Amino acid sequence: MHEKSRGALNALIGRGCGLHVDGQWVTGEGAPLDLVSPATGEVIGSLREASEAQVDEAVAAACRAFSAGGWAEDGPHRALVLRRLADLVLEHAEDIAYLDAVEAGKLFRDSLAEDVGDVAANLRFFADLCGRDEGRYLQDASGWGWVRKVPVGVVGAILPWNFPIAMLGWKVAPALAAGNAVVLKPSEDSTLSALRFAELAAEAGVPHGVLNVLTGTGAVAGRALGLHPDVDALGFTGSGPVGRALLEASARSNLKKISLELGGRAGYIVDDAHVSDLEAAAADAVAAAFGTSGQNCTASSRVIFVGDDEERFVRFRDALVAAAGRITVGDPLDEAADMGPVINDAAQERIADWVDEAVSLGATVLHRAPDVPARGTWYPPTILADVPANSRLGTGEIFGPVTQLVRVSSREEAVSAINGEPYGLASTVWCEDLAMVRWWADRIRVGTLAINGYSEGTVATPFGGMRQSGFWGRDNGPEALDAYQEAMTVWIAQG
Ligand code: NAD
Repeated sequence: MHEKSRGALNALIGRGCGLHVDGQWVTGEGAPLDLVSPATGEVIGSLREASEAQVDEAVAAACRAFSAGGWAEDGPHRALVLRRLADLVLEHAEDIAYLDAVEAGKLFRDSLAEDVGDVAANLRFFADLCGRDEGRYLQDASGWGWVRKVPVGVVGAILPWNFPIAMLGWKVAPALAAGNAVVLKPSEDSTLSALRFAELAAEAGVPHGVLNVLTGTGAVAGRALGLHPDVDALGFTGSGPVGRALLEASARSNLKKISLELGGRAGYIVDDAHVSDLEAAAADAVAAAFGTSGQNCTASSRVIFVGDDEERFVRFRDALVAAAGRITVGDPLDEAADMGPVINDAAQERIADWVDEAVSLGATVLHRAPDVPARGTWYPPTILADVPANSRLGTGEIFGPVTQLVRVSSREEAVSAINGEPYGLASTVWCEDLAMVRWWADRIRVGTLAINGYSEGTVATPFGGMRQSGFWGRDNGPEALDAYQEAMTVWIAQG
């Protein structure tokens, strides 16, 4: 199994080129970058990072491609190319899912069924919107004119490693559909699927220079993109501190438009008075907490039970622990695995430190899986209770397979627990009473509120965070185009 996909991985690594610029494979001139499999700890290959000079070259190629005009001006052609690219992505779905499984420790099963399909759906969704802006016609005594949406020009995109190919689709599909040229920097922990995507984009007919991919670290390639005077807009998904650094870089350079999708600390609220099946709610909360090893900005890092019925609370707690106990931790390529590794040593150490600190300050361990593989970077699914507010786990984003059970008496306390956080990305409420759903929706302030089942919405629904989970702009939905377009007025004076 995976024989063909192993061939695709070896071909990418064997070529030794970490950059795809102006339609060509290019070898990086920066530091060597080892690609490490989190599941085994093995170095699967090595590429060289882009140097700062190569970031300049990629941006120059994007500027040339944008100025050439053909791509930006021909919406129907862009739509055709993006649809062709969606087809190619699906044709090579197994290879792409394999690359993310090996390099980023994603479950092959999930990546194939969800992430790769999501990219294709994104490309098709935005293909449908290409060149569809009908603008606005206006007139008064002084003249007449119209307002239209135009591409910003060159878009930089900087991605995290947790959903490598899906996050790529979230940025690249709307940016290309709007008529821009893109310089993309995937995370240094997950670069291969982006390189394969660049190759498929060229095959689909994306013109040279319209999509450029750079392997590189944040400190060199990411920083250079943030400061670059010819990058007109930058779409970023990642951590808050890096997002803030990019805002500063924009202010210090050319005031490029910045849209930031940042961290989260989602709650999973169980409104006990309106839950018919506590076991179903518990199983869904566990899936929401431990999917992608909890390394998900919308992972339910707090499960909040609302109600005073002791017997039902114990039943729910036991169901939560039982559902977590059913998680099979194992090789991301194994179809039977429900949870894979965490991304790297630093993540493994951080998660362990935070949990140990919380326990030393009084947290209770409700569940911790007994075994995880010895090689590679792993952390067992863990559920805590009584997590002290003065611990890092009490306030921060754990970004790992750890959740905590919290119990409150009133709905208002649950609302405060969500709205009182600096994060406001997503949350779930399990509540089967429609009137009460409205009550929750009117009070909870997050970008995506899922009801009766964890969800991030669809490619057609905007995704992004309130408060410090985001800064302007949304991924997905027609709203995603706003980050990559300018409103332009054409006014014809009437003498
Ligand atoms: P990160 O911020 O460390 O890295 C993200 C990207 O930024 C990487 O490509 C990295 O190379 C680059 N980078 C690092 N330093 C940089 C700098 N100084 N200048 C420019 N670029 C730089 O985040 P991560 O560890 O890859 O991902 C985890 C974080 O991402 C979590 O906080 C998570 O919640 C967040 N995230 C948010 C969403 C969302 O949609 N809101 C989705 C996924 C992940």
